Amino acid sequence: MFSSSWHQISSCLPVGVNLLAVSKGHSATSIRCLAELGQKDFGESRLQEALPKISSLQDIPDLRWHFIGRLQANKARAVLKAFAVIHSVDSLSLAERLSRIAGEELVRPEIMIQVKLREDPTKGGMSREQFLKDWKTLSHLPNLKLKGLMTMPPMMFSLQDRKELFIECRELANQFSLSDCSMGMSSDWEEAVEAGATWLRLGSSLFGARCPSLTNSSQI
Ligand SMILES: *Cc1c(COP(=O)(O)O)cnc(C)c1O
Repeated sequence: MFSSSWHQISSCLPVGVNLLAVSKGHSATSIRCLAELGQKDFGESRLQEALPKISSLQDIPDLRWHFIGRLQANKARAVLKAFAVIHSVDSLSLAERLSRIAGEELVRPEIMIQVKLREDPTKGGMSREQFLKDWKTLSHLPNLKLKGLMTMPPMMFSLQDRKELFIECRELANQFSLSDCSMGMSSDWEEAVEAGATWLRLGSSLFGARCPSLTNSSQI
């Protein structure tokens, strides 16, 4: 059902650009279909919605779950237990908490720092200034693999403005020798690829429209 867009997009990506299938709002059955084509990385943004799907798909080998939503401190332990990668670490205090709990749980998650390089009251993320200030502490947290930066452009941005923002994110990551940039969604992933993204987070372009009942029921 989703095979044509998945094949089409994954076959045209340059080496080093990874496809994260954002499965929020889609059923475990839909995820299984995509996994059968060879997709291994799936992104979810709400813990409550994700957990039952993750547990019902445990029989599939090598699936990697990525957390991409706003992460409340009190959900940190549960997220660390279920997810291998967290793209949405948006403060030093959250990173410190994740590192401490990861030590207790004997896990070593990959993380991206979510940065907000433009004013946008609707999104989380560290400002450039905050990131520069906290970098030293962040980079020394013992139980996290700090892989890169994640960013999202403000909704009304043109594709040109998005691309400029993505290029700035890539440059900031390079400045600190961070390999990954998680940027680009269904509407702007081509700009993100041109700017040097390594993780594209694609939902609707792979799966079609989201099912509201799945996302609403778990919006805690
Ligand atoms: C939902 C979501 C996506 C995917 O959005 P699409 O426009 O459906 O591709 C990507 N990143 C984050 C953080 C999301 O919440």
